[in-house]
Amino acid sequence: MGGEDERPEVVRKLASVQEISAIDPIDGADNIECATILGWTVVVAKDYHFKPGDLVCFFEIDSFLPVQPQYEFLRKSSYRSHPDIGEGFRIKTCKLRGCLSQGLALPHEEIFPYHAIAHEVGTDVTEVLGVRKYDPPIHTGSGPGVIRGDCKGNFPSFVRKTDQERIQNIHNWVMAHHQGEYEATLKVDGTSLTAYRYMDERGVCSRNWDLKEDTEDRRSEYWAIVKKSGLYDALMEINRNIAVQAELMGPGIQRNRENFDKHKFFIFDIWDIDQQRHLTPLERFGLVRQLFAWLTPDEEDCWAHVPVIEYVTIDDSWTLQKFLDYANRPSINHKIAEGVVFKSVKPNGISFKCISNQFLLKEKD
Ligand code: AMP
Ligand code: MN
Repeated sequence: MGGEDERPEVVRKLASVQEISAIDPIDGADNIECATILGWTVVVAKDYHFKPGDLVCFFEIDSFLPVQPQYEFLRKSSYRSHPDIGEGFRIKTCKLRGCLSQGLALPHEEIFPYHAIAHEVGTDVTEVLGVRKYDPPIHTGSGPGVIRGDCKGNFPSFVRKTDQERIQNIHNWVMAHHQGEYEATLKVDGTSLTAYRYMDERGVCSRNWDLKEDTEDRRSEYWAIVKKSGLYDALMEINRNIAVQAELMGPGIQRNRENFDKHKFFIFDIWDIDQQRHLTPLERFGLVRQLFAWLTPDEEDCWAHVPVIEYVTIDDSWTLQKFLDYANRPSINHKIAEGVVFKSVKPNGISFKCISNQFLLKEKD
């Protein structure tokens, strides 16, 4: 085992040191130009006089920058006050003079004036710069339907979190080492829910936390749906240590773009706790079928497997552009899907996401 075939631990580098690979003019623009960094195009100020090969500090979309003087120029376009993580500047997708811009590139020497520091391409500087991930507030609604869940503890260390790497960051690596058969699944836009069974314990987690069980005076919509769906009981019937990972959708969650009238979750992965790996798509379908065998029709209505678009062979023809075009498609009840998640059919295979730029350009929060 090892080397390049090993799946990289999915720790998203929101801010990292990167190299500019190309600079192109933008038609009709005097003060800005277009830089290429990894698989991204980023509009930059001409004042910086960037050239290919220059080192930059690159902030990916979804970076939430701290309120500090050097980022004040972002205030007008990007200031956000978030109910859970406070104030900051949000980096999001936009179009400037018709040019797609994804991320923020600042001269490396401006951020790290002392030469010796963090000059290696790829160095993760997310934490040292105090950059956090911006997730649109889950509680977008008010009144009934808003989802809650109090924390019991950290996300269990024996389960992998559900984050996905973006194709723009790993396209070359996928082409060089991971061509082959993939399951292309619809990326649905709700919030992550993990329900696990480990020995005699069962638990329910949000994206980052293990949650307290639902009681009369302390509601948890996460727990409620896991019980209502019959998954809670079925986990005990299936005599295995597993974590079912799903997207919880419906009223009060994100913008409920699919317009569901009640909560419902869509399974996209199953983590085998004993083997410390995801089940392959085939194994996953086998287990979902077993779980469903325990349900009543009412329970069945609460959950489903996430829609599989098709099984595809990723070969040399899959340029970054082809992935991006593929992601522009309708979702279950909306004409613009969030995107697609590709999962290798191999045991311990890789997975990555490809978000639709149409979706990103329309994002509101
Ligand atoms: P993001 O929310 O952009 O960071 O992307 C990762 C998240 O997408 C995961 O944590 C899941 O909650 C969610 N997701 C939605 N649909 C899928 C899918 N088909 N496969 C994997 N993850 C998905
Ligand atoms: Mn999401």
